[in-house]
Amino acid sequence: MKPFAYVRARSVEEATAAYAGQPRARYLGGGTNLVDLMKLGVEQPAALIDISRLPLAAVDELPDGSVRAGATVRNSDLAAHPLIRDRYPVLAQAILAGASGQLRNVATTGGNLLQRTRCPYFQDTSKPCNKREPGTGCGAREGVHRDHAVLGHSEQCIATHPSDMAVALAALDARVELSGPDGQRTLPVTEFHRLPGDSPQRDTEIAPGELITGVVLPPAVAGLPSAYRKARDRASYAFALASVAVVLDVTDGVVRHARIAFGGLAHRPWRARRAEEALVGERAGDDAFLRALDAELAAAEPLRDNAYKVALARNLAGDVLRRLTP
Ligand SMILES: Cc1cc2nc3c(=O)[nH]c(=O)nc-3n(C[C@H](O)[C@H](O)[C@H](O)COP(=O)(O)OP(=O)(O)OC[C@H]3O[C@@H](n4cnc5c(N)ncnc54)[C@H](O)[C@@H]3O)c2cc1C
Ligand code: SF4
Repeated sequence: MKPFAYVRARSVEEATAAYAGQPRARYLGGGTNLVDLMKLGVEQPAALIDISRLPLAAVDELPDGSVRAGATVRNSDLAAHPLIRDRYPVLAQAILAGASGQLRNVATTGGNLLQRTRCPYFQDTSKPCNKREPGTGCGAREGVHRDHAVLGHSEQCIATHPSDMAVALAALDARVELSGPDGQRTLPVTEFHRLPGDSPQRDTEIAPGELITGVVLPPAVAGLPSAYRKARDRASYAFALASVAVVLDVTDGVVRHARIAFGGLAHRPWRARRAEEALVGERAGDDAFLRALDAELAAAEPLRDNAYKVALARNLAGDVLRRLTP
C-alpha cells in the first residue's frame, strides 16, 4: 500500500488551501470511484482532501427560479428531492439508472461529474493507455472496443464518459459552479467535459485545485416533459452502451423546444444540437424525429466492433421523442 496524507476540510476555503499546499492532492467525495482507482494503482495521490462534510449538501430554489444542488448532495438524495422529481424528472431518472442503491447513497454530485472512464485499458496499469499515461498508445483502438465512442473520438483516445447524471444535466443546460485558487466561476455542463483530441489525459476543463461547489439547473426548462432512457448489458449495475436524455415541448402538434443529449457515445455527454435545430418548428412525428436524429448521427465514425451503437442511439432517442409527444 502507498501511504497518503488525509485532511478533512470544514469549509471550501480550507479545502482549496489544503489542496494547494499538497503535491498530488485529490479531493475525496464519496470515494466510490477514486478509492477503486487507488486500489488498482491508476490513481496514486499523495494526499486526500475529504470534502464530504463541507456545507454543500443542500438542494435549494434560487430567487430567479433556478435550482441549485450542492456538490456533496448524495446521488440518492438528489434523485429523491421533490424539486428535482417535479421540475426535472429527466435528472431523477438518469441518476436512478446509474450504479446501485448502495453506491448512490454514497456518491456525490461533484464526484459523479468527475468519475473517470470505465475503459478496461485505462483501469489496467499493465496496458498501454494515453489517458492514464500519455504517449503510451491506445490499447482499445485495435483491441476490445465494443463499449467505446462513435462520436468525437481521436487517434489518441476512443473512451466514453460514464456518467448518466451528466447526460441529463447537459440536456437541461445546467451549469457547474467552481471555486479555486483564482476565485469562482461557472461553466455550462456542455463545456465542462472535453473531447479527447491530443490530450486525452484531461477529461474536463477543471483547473488544478478547483473544487466543484454545485450545479445549477435553469428555470427555462423546469416542468417541461422530459425523460431518460438507457441501454445496457444488465438491468442494473451496468454502464450505458447508449443512453439519451430528452426535454421536449410540443404544442399544437409542433415542436417548440427540443433538447437532446446522448450518453455512452462520446468522451463527453453529446449534445445533439444538429437534431435539435432540425426539430424546432417541425410537426412532431416519426418523419421529423428520425430525419433529425439521422442528421445528428451522420457524424458518427464507428470502430470495427461498435457500429451497433449508432442504430441503438437512434432507436432509443426516437422512442423517447415519441413517448414525450402528447
Ligand atoms: C460497480 C459500479 C457501477 C457503477 N455504475 C454507474 C452507472 O451505471 N452510471 C453512472 O453514472 N455511474 C456509475 N458508477 C459510478 C458512480 O456513479 C461514481 O463512482 C460516483 O458517482 C462518483 O462519486 P463519488 O462522490 O464517490 O466520487 P469520488 O470517487 O469521491 O471522486 C471521483 C473524482 O472526482 C473528484 N471529486 C469528487 N468531488 C469533487 C468536487 N466537489 N470537486 C472537485 N473534484 C471532486 C475526486 O478527486 C475524484 O477524482 C458506478 C460505480 C461502481 C463502483
Ligand atoms: S480509449 Fe482512451 S482510456 Fe481507453 S485505452 Fe485508449 S487512451 Fe486509454
